[in-house]
Amino acid sequence: MPASRKNGGPAAASSETRQQRGQRYRDRWRWDDTFPATHCVDCYPGNCPYKVFVRDGKVIAEEQAATFPVIDKRVPDLNPMGCQKGAAWSRLLYSPERVLHPLKRAGKRGDANWEQVTWDQALGEIADHMLDAIQEVGPESIIKEGTPGEGGLLSSFPFGRLIEMMGGLSTDVNAVINDFSTGIYLTYGKFDPASSIDDLFHSEFIMYTHMNPVYTQIPAYHYTAEARYKGAEIILVAPDCSPSHTHADYYVPIKPGTDAALGLAMAQVIIGEGLYETPFIKEQTDLPLLVRLDTRRFLRESDLREGGRDDQMYVWDSKRGQLSPAPLATLDLGDLDATLEGSYSAELQDGRRVEVVPVFELLKERLQDYTPEKASLMCDVNPEMIRTLARKIASKRGAIFCGGTSFKYYHSDLMVRAYLLVLGLTGNWGRKGTGPGEWSVAGFDGPFIYSGKQKPGLEETHRILDLREAAIQLFKNQDPTRTEEMAHIEMMRAMAPQMQMVPPAFFWYYHCGFKDNWNRREWNDPTMQREFDEYFNESLRRGWWSDRPGPDLPPRVYFEVGGNAMRRTRGGQNQLLASLWPKLKCAVTVDWRMNTTGLLSDYFLPVAHHYEKIAFMFPTPQLMNLTFSDKAVEPPPDVKDEVEIGVLLAEKIEERARARGMTEYTDSRGVGRRLDDLVDRYTVHGAFRDGETIAREWVQDSAAAGNFDADFDFDALRKKGYQRFKSWGIGALAKSQASDIKDDETHTAFRWHVENKVPYPTLTRRAQFYIDHEWFLEAGEELPCHKDNPAQGGDYPFVMTSGHNRWSIHSMNIVNRVLQETHRGRPNVVMNPDDGARLGIADDEEVEISNDMGVFITPVKFSPGVQPGQIVSYNGWEPYQYKTWKGASDTEPGMVKWLHFAGGEGHLRYWPMQWQPVPFDRGIRVNVSKVD
Ligand code: SF4
Repeated sequence: MPASRKNGGPAAASSETRQQRGQRYRDRWRWDDTFPATHCVDCYPGNCPYKVFVRDGKVIAEEQAATFPVIDKRVPDLNPMGCQKGAAWSRLLYSPERVLHPLKRAGKRGDANWEQVTWDQALGEIADHMLDAIQEVGPESIIKEGTPGEGGLLSSFPFGRLIEMMGGLSTDVNAVINDFSTGIYLTYGKFDPASSIDDLFHSEFIMYTHMNPVYTQIPAYHYTAEARYKGAEIILVAPDCSPSHTHADYYVPIKPGTDAALGLAMAQVIIGEGLYETPFIKEQTDLPLLVRLDTRRFLRESDLREGGRDDQMYVWDSKRGQLSPAPLATLDLGDLDATLEGSYSAELQDGRRVEVVPVFELLKERLQDYTPEKASLMCDVNPEMIRTLARKIASKRGAIFCGGTSFKYYHSDLMVRAYLLVLGLTGNWGRKGTGPGEWSVAGFDGPFIYSGKQKPGLEETHRILDLREAAIQLFKNQDPTRTEEMAHIEMMRAMAPQMQMVPPAFFWYYHCGFKDNWNRREWNDPTMQREFDEYFNESLRRGWWSDRPGPDLPPRVYFEVGGNAMRRTRGGQNQLLASLWPKLKCAVTVDWRMNTTGLLSDYFLPVAHHYEKIAFMFPTPQLMNLTFSDKAVEPPPDVKDEVEIGVLLAEKIEERARARGMTEYTDSRGVGRRLDDLVDRYTVHGAFRDGETIAREWVQDSAAAGNFDADFDFDALRKKGYQRFKSWGIGALAKSQASDIKDDETHTAFRWHVENKVPYPTLTRRAQFYIDHEWFLEAGEELPCHKDNPAQGGDYPFVMTSGHNRWSIHSMNIVNRVLQETHRGRPNVVMNPDDGARLGIADDEEVEISNDMGVFITPVKFSPGVQPGQIVSYNGWEPYQYKTWKGASDTEPGMVKWLHFAGGEGHLRYWPMQWQPVPFDRGIRVNVSKVD
């Protein structure tokens, strides 16, 4: 008899009949109702449609809905989208991390001494702090941290709107999280063209760099595997050997931060062996445009004649043997034969003659420094491998995906520009299965229309759409050569100074202590010719930026809504607690669980979780669908959703302002603000006080804007759970996809440019590899080049890299008990075992990671897949999961590249989520040592 039987367990179970056991199992999976849902976090492209099962008012489980239709019979469908986080999501609703009542700090910040308070008290006191801030400093001293928002559009929107109406500021999320690719932006004048994930099926060559798609693209990875099954070759370029390498045809190990050398060497081979696609580069890129050799600037019409345009560039027409203006309103060169090679003479308006050459000539000259042999010394990639990659992509439909990690290197712009050059030379964008990829948001215009509404309903929607159309027409009339996309962007640029979203670089510089870091010469690029502050001050003196909040506007009230600044901000607690926190009179965290920022805040406002409120994740071109997350269950009794909290806070602010006789004020730019009608304006005369009403309006207005069929409405969305976009609608971000949406085709970005010859929104109106801004010339970065990663953090022997971990791409599920049981359940760093042996460190031993910024303690995990001299600290751990409550971010200096303060011309001008300085956190230098 088996021992277990003796112990009585099975005997007890055997008293239950087989039928009873079956019934118990069936009861466990009995449900009362199901709801459509998704998870509104930044697990891009996310938006996976789920079905949530509810019994007795509680969520018991969820599963992938798998209801997307087939779009193109020749392409696998999207189903079933999902990942292990989504499959265990409901466990978070009932987890011990949830905060169930509003809390107020009862001791010193961070000493975990809290008092449970009523909503009335919490919101009343926060309102008073906001009014104090306005009185003592000005409304710009109220700051909302930009965040993708745990909870989706209806979570971040209410607070952003309220703070904006009061004159407070929101930091631009694309810089805060640094998902902004300066390299893509510099090349195309927009950062976000992104084909749909199913378009990848058409690829023949897929190159991933700084990416680990097996971890980070779980719902979409099957397209990589399916394309490979169809014959595509998969190339993985990464310093460490990640789980994605086992599914690649070529794994290309590279020295961290040297991708520009690899990309430029590939370009050198492509040009050297004549593998480039001449018609494509003549038409689509700036490579035929002429550059003056005396100034290294483009030859402009303003050089040739008085009153000439500054953005009219020239080519040399070899058919006629003369200079010819490059067409502005189209990429079509007509019968011009724009030469790529040679040297020519141009007569300036003062009669002088100067030598001019096409950019292509300068590029060839630059690439002499990047033969495969020379580049190999920089990036450690074998020259024959470089040649192989170059020849392959030149003969195939190729895509190069520079993962989010590559944007987070100091010289990320150079790396990405180099890879885009490879794509450009080989004609690899605007065609199915090709191109680069970034994150993007599009296809749901309702929230943008809503922010301008003065009353509910479609009549008001059409008023706003008509106004917008008239404004776009105005911008087109200013310059008839402008495209629709350019007019939209110029309108956004014109509106940016009136908006309350600001590039956070100035907030960080003046108020978060980064001025000192950024001025540390030894942490900067050694090729920087002047001190950081010289560049910074020049950029302001020349009016390239509006530095809000300025030095005389110290922050007083700080809102973190669905984010976690203490974890995410480069420098972490070492930076923020020392510099920002002492200035704050009131720090408020709005979240569903206690995170590290919450622990250090003055107030914690608990919010409803996914499945407890109506929510939309921001829809993405990669998915081409808006997905919907319904309210399946009620939140806990003392927990509210963000829309309700926003209304209650607005009411408190108005009530307290009236009581204090403080109903009018002006902000630092002289804009008058009122508080005695705040609630009326905020709720649009009482029409919008709850999430469902707002959601209904958003869907209705999106249909009116053309995103969906005109008769599509909220009820249809609620029933179906998703809806595919019909058109991009009105947004500048959406227009940047530059492609018609077809019902039966995958989405391929850039098609308007490549097929319809529509110009790009850059200075030269072409994909631009030559940036002739004077700072870029000073830096020697007018064309892409390779520069070594600076010694950020100090002169230490290890380079720390990162990436998203498998269990918590978006960091929220890092505390999910189910997922924790699938890994070690705590942070670690990964290092090469040879380094461990050299330092006398054992596998799983705690080590100290330190540099001039800070120190954190964590167990080390050995893997031969990590290069000697490299350590990998995966992203997303809560600082409180580390021994000293300090994590990797506490060693990151948060450097920005001085060059990204360049502005004032062409596309180097800010508009929300676009051109601006961003902080870096990859390739940080650290020491690793045994803990004393
Ligand atoms: Fe999809 Fe993100 Fe949910 Fe995973 S967590 S199922 S990727 S939406």
